Amino acid sequence: MSATIRNQQGSDPLLDSEGPGARALGPRRDSVAAGGVGGPGDVALAAVNFHILSACDARCDFCFATFPGVRGRLAAPDARRLITLLRAHGAEKLTFAGGEPTLHPDLEGYLRHAKGEGLVTGVVTNGSRLQPLLARAADAIDWVALSVDSASEATQRALGRGGGDHVARAVRLSDLCRAAGVRLKVNTVVTSLTWEEDLTELLRRLAPERWKLFQVLRVEGQNDGRVERLLISREQFSAFVARHARLAEAGVTLVPEDNDAITDSYVMIDPLGRLYGDTGGIHRVGPSVLEAGVDAALAAVGFQPEKLRARGGLYDWAPPRRHLPILAGRPTRPPRAGGGYPPG
Ligand code: SF4
Repeated sequence: MSATIRNQQGSDPLLDSEGPGARALGPRRDSVAAGGVGGPGDVALAAVNFHILSACDARCDFCFATFPGVRGRLAAPDARRLITLLRAHGAEKLTFAGGEPTLHPDLEGYLRHAKGEGLVTGVVTNGSRLQPLLARAADAIDWVALSVDSASEATQRALGRGGGDHVARAVRLSDLCRAAGVRLKVNTVVTSLTWEEDLTELLRRLAPERWKLFQVLRVEGQNDGRVERLLISREQFSAFVARHARLAEAGVTLVPEDNDAITDSYVMIDPLGRLYGDTGGIHRVGPSVLEAGVDAALAAVGFQPEKLRARGGLYDWAPPRRHLPILAGRPTRPPRAGGGYPPG
């Protein structure tokens, strides 16, 4: 298997995606990658994040999915109708996010509905309630994106994610995902508390297929007033990425996204079913997709399809599953006293 690092300067990630799966791409996705079918809307909706609720059981100071002005969420029949509509407009991959999506009582039903529509499914989670979801619905989940920012339990707690056992739990969950045949990503937000850390051993143990690295981002109305102490420069972010480049040799695809790459390159749907995008550090919210229709909602947000491609947002998400060996090769052990993941 090839090992790659993607960045915003990288080549088209679909056309040069890894392994035999690249040859398995259907005609439609080849066309989307080449920009040859439909128009920007096809590319925009190829991969969509649906934030199904705003509630979360963590309090990350960098969180920019807090939805402070959003009250409530779509009723389940409307959410399912929305999923069907997205599929009809070219969606291929639907990732359920939050808040913490595993807190949503209908998540399993949404996953099954999405699978029934032929979508590749994903769940972005802090892991707190992932285990019971895997037990019930692993067959409806293609990808899990586990959020882990530090190898130190103390640092993880200082960031607001987890109560002191987050890292150890993530290791356990990575094993459960593998056992259940669910493909694994890790999402890491790089901050002032972590940019000098070396997470190589932890990532070798978690062994995700993809590791998404985000430069902590200030988003007005979402995390301003809390995130400032955590901000880092682009150079500090680059240093963190460079320190981990060797993980590519172990088959982990690194996907670094600095602030510029994140801006205008995601199409997201909020808990009320409205399309929104990040435009220069502020969320631009469009109308309800169910009420206004997909095209009108897309026109209202500042999405740039070329930035989606450039950040590696279109990749080979549905090849035959491959599981990396657990490179550390040892059973999970509890963290050391005082936090920290035990290397090896
Ligand atoms: S776990 Fe995710 S949704 Fe919850 S507070 Fe942290 S970043 Fe936000």
